[in-house]
Amino acid sequence: TELEHFLDESGNLHFTEEATLVDYVEQNVRDQPDTLAYRFIDFSRERDGEPIDLTWAQFGKRLRAVAARLQQVTKPGDRVAILAPQSLEYVIGFFASLYASNVAVPLFSPDEPGHTDRLVGVLADCTPAAILTSTKSAEAVRDFFADRPAKDRPRVIAVDAVPDSVGSSWVAPVAGKDHARDTVAYLQYTSGSTRVPAGVEITYEAVAANCLQISDCIDIDRNARGVTWLPMFHDMGLLTVILPALGGRYVTIMSPQAFVRRPGRWIRELAADDDHAPTYAAAPNFAYEHAAARGLPRDGEDLDLSNVIGLINGSEPVTVSSMRKFNEAFAPYKLSPKAIKPCYGMAEATLFVSATQRDDEAKVTYVDRDELNAGRFVAADENAENSVAQVSCGQVALSQWAAIVDPETGVEREDGHVGEIWLHGKNIGKGYWNKVDETDETFHNTIATPLASGSHTEGSPEGAQWMRTGDYGVWYDGELYITGRVKDLVIVDGRNHYPQDLEGTAQDASPALRPGFVAAFAVPSNQLPAEVFEAGHSGLTYDVDDASEQLVVVAERGPGRKTDPQEIADVVRAAIAGRHGVMVRDLLLVPAGSIPRTSSGKIARRATKAAYVDGTLRGGYQQTAFPDAGE
Ligand code: ATP
Ligand code: MG
Repeated sequence: TELEHFLDESGNLHFTEEATLVDYVEQNVRDQPDTLAYRFIDFSRERDGEPIDLTWAQFGKRLRAVAARLQQVTKPGDRVAILAPQSLEYVIGFFASLYASNVAVPLFSPDEPGHTDRLVGVLADCTPAAILTSTKSAEAVRDFFADRPAKDRPRVIAVDAVPDSVGSSWVAPVAGKDHARDTVAYLQYTSGSTRVPAGVEITYEAVAANCLQISDCIDIDRNARGVTWLPMFHDMGLLTVILPALGGRYVTIMSPQAFVRRPGRWIRELAADDDHAPTYAAAPNFAYEHAAARGLPRDGEDLDLSNVIGLINGSEPVTVSSMRKFNEAFAPYKLSPKAIKPCYGMAEATLFVSATQRDDEAKVTYVDRDELNAGRFVAADENAENSVAQVSCGQVALSQWAAIVDPETGVEREDGHVGEIWLHGKNIGKGYWNKVDETDETFHNTIATPLASGSHTEGSPEGAQWMRTGDYGVWYDGELYITGRVKDLVIVDGRNHYPQDLEGTAQDASPALRPGFVAAFAVPSNQLPAEVFEAGHSGLTYDVDDASEQLVVVAERGPGRKTDPQEIADVVRAAIAGRHGVMVRDLLLVPAGSIPRTSSGKIARRATKAAYVDGTLRGGYQQTAFPDAGE
């Protein structure tokens, strides 16, 4: 890559020019017009897919046309929301918004089922002046805004309906004048796992820095190609399609549905031999398990995965079992055991924070559960009754710093001690759109007392501002481990429990629970529903003044034989009592599809708790809303 160009004497990322993504794309359009930039494989008609290719020259032409159209109806700085299905139009729409000096807001088409409320909420927050979509979704988009008075309706533009000729009127933004490094390029909405999604303001510098950090970490050189099916409204999906602007070769895109239906399509594309180009991709944990179970090649089919240099596994806790299944399934097809790279990231950091290093295999450490719950990382024997597996998220990216801090005092904690992860780097967003207080609280922090020796703030600039991630983590033996979200921690009788640990025990205890669709959280005793006190199994009697936190587990039922709910509850209760020393006061079994999830598929425990407490979960709740923690 051209990484050296962006490094200062001490080897840190450093930008000397006011160049932005627009300039980087323009450079590719000029320097390599006939090279492939993006390939979309459409699986909607043909089982084997139909490729649609876009060279840099064609891409540049489309960007000019759509940007010129936007310039006719918007002002610089106006938000432009992308409400298109997964397609090349989506990528064009995103970059065209930047070409028009607008602030892009990558969202999704309203015909995506189940997330309408999230879309309504986010649009009300960012108030776009125009919407970019494709002809395929234009009707759904117009319908979506139909009940608004005409003057409140944003302009809807179908990207593929704008003729190339419009591009002649495009006025290029001038770097340093219309655009500068600290200009906001786009709003990345958080997933909404713990709250109403917040729009992180991503500057041109932050996104460029993060692309370079990713390229550096997984060694994306001029020859490397990417393969993605991740939705582009999700930070991990978006960064994958932004990467070619700064480095590497083209990216092959398919839809999330194409992957979910036949994960072998993703695998086959990873293996596609294109001059032995090193190949990379990113996906959340569940995808590796899904691909292992259903993505193996058909009998006799060739598959050579020796080109795969990095498979980012992030955005959710990484499990040992999904990595093991994936590696076992594809090792016979020459997948390197070093390919899977557990990673840590978040919207507030543009995306990428830390990863298992290039030459390392994913590292798993077994630690003592009681010590972990008390905030200490103490190695234990893998087979010990009380050991918990923790997957390392490796080292922090180039020119990014992660310190473990006592969230109350701002004092940095020693290695081996759990605390809140605080970050600093050029890739950190400017703040939350429209949220002054939350911005201050999250983005503007100083570390009161760094460690006298071995501080992880070393090398960060004097007076640096730190971003609080809301995640607990620990540095151990030179590696960063993420232990869980601060907001989701279950505290019962003064003892801490990580929800994912409790959920893991529950789903291991009974095959009747749908794996991955289990939520553990604490509810004040006097807010528990009447059923809990009636049944007698909970061991509790109702007391209006008793606000002590009690453990509740909500689980979706798996397919297959319907076991008696009482039997399931007994087994789960016994397993959790035995392993964690805490009593499950209620195990609520619900039909598949009941547990609130984000549009990127993450479980939303606080929304589950809200629906549990207000009773909607018992009445056959089906998710329609984005999770609103209601606080
Ligand atoms: P919201 O902030 O709206 O509640 P969210 O935090 O899920 O939603 P994202 O920014 O998309 O929104 O996700 C980042 C979060 O995902 C991290 O803060 C962390 O909690 C979790 N996460 C990401 N990678 C990992 C990982 N490797 N292991 C554990 N958790 C991870
Ligand atoms: Mg978050």
